[in-house]
Amino acid sequence: MPICWLISEEGKHKPIQLPHLQTVVVGRGPETTIKDKKCSRHQVELKAECNKGYVKVKQLGLNPTSIGSVVVGKGNEVKMKPGEQLLVVNSLYPYTVQFKEDITGSQGAIKKIPQQVEIDGGSQSEAPNMKAAKLTEKVTTVSPGEATKTSGNSGHWSQGLKTSMQDPKMQVYKDDKVVVIKDKYPKARYHWLVLPWQSIPSLKALSGEHCDLLKHMQKVADRMIQQCPETNSLSFRTGYHAIPSMSHIHLHVISQDFDSPCLKNKKHWNSFTTDYFIDSENVIQMLENDGSVSVKDGTSELLKLPLRCHVCHKECPTIPALKEHLKRHFSK
Ligand code: AMP
Ligand code: ZN
Repeated sequence: MPICWLISEEGKHKPIQLPHLQTVVVGRGPETTIKDKKCSRHQVELKAECNKGYVKVKQLGLNPTSIGSVVVGKGNEVKMKPGEQLLVVNSLYPYTVQFKEDITGSQGAIKKIPQQVEIDGGSQSEAPNMKAAKLTEKVTTVSPGEATKTSGNSGHWSQGLKTSMQDPKMQVYKDDKVVVIKDKYPKARYHWLVLPWQSIPSLKALSGEHCDLLKHMQKVADRMIQQCPETNSLSFRTGYHAIPSMSHIHLHVISQDFDSPCLKNKKHWNSFTTDYFIDSENVIQMLENDGSVSVKDGTSELLKLPLRCHVCHKECPTIPALKEHLKRHFSK
């Protein structure tokens, strides 16, 4: 049976699961982050019929709840299907519903999202690097992350991951704790980001209580690597940038070929091949031992180091020369 999710289109919070035939009441409160007094704490009652692929929506509050432009009306109940928009009150706070196949049925196992199962550039997802290359054609690159003024996000560029993680087209895996997206500007043939639904701005905000979450993120990263079609021929690293450019903590899962048109400059290179990149296991260890993650002074200087091959340590004068050199190690 598929699992039904209620998704804030504004990305205000993580998706809320609507269990089959159970009523879930949504309204003003911390779960939705709606603070508007016009919205009742019990504004709308939702009941998913997962076998039928719709959700019954009942307006409980006084002010109008609508599906698209059609007002439900107090005490009334209407059916809502994927693709339709629920506006919780006064045409505000848009939500959609999605039914995702639970193909494993087992807790903690990888649950692939049906349309995005192909992580290897299959029919749905064109080769990830090619896709990203097209997207980046018009943008100006800045420091390690690919934040740009033209990123198309409503907020500041540094908030772009929060938008992407809510976008079903970007998601390749999700469970109740984390979501995995393809890096929009991959720096290698395979480059994913594992993000927790919980809002954690950066490494600095981590404490000992996050250990289990980070271990889960690592487990999911390992499964992504196992599922990769080139898992036997490529090596991978999983870790964090010591000083990230994008908000919301994200674990990089990146193949070590660095064969990508999005890898364009020294900062990109050094951010993945020097101590600027902290392996996930080291972060977890720091948290377990010290209860916090420390970043050494002078870390930002690492981005200015000469370009050095991460396999044989040969120094290369330019990025094109480095890319030419890498072909020796990573032939297609
Ligand atoms: P950093 O913050 O330096 O750890 O890296 C941020 C990563 O996010 C980079 O690898 C970028 O290519 C990637 N990125 C930047 N903007 C987006 C976005 N809107 N969606 C997905 N990935 C992004
Ligand atoms: Zn080399």
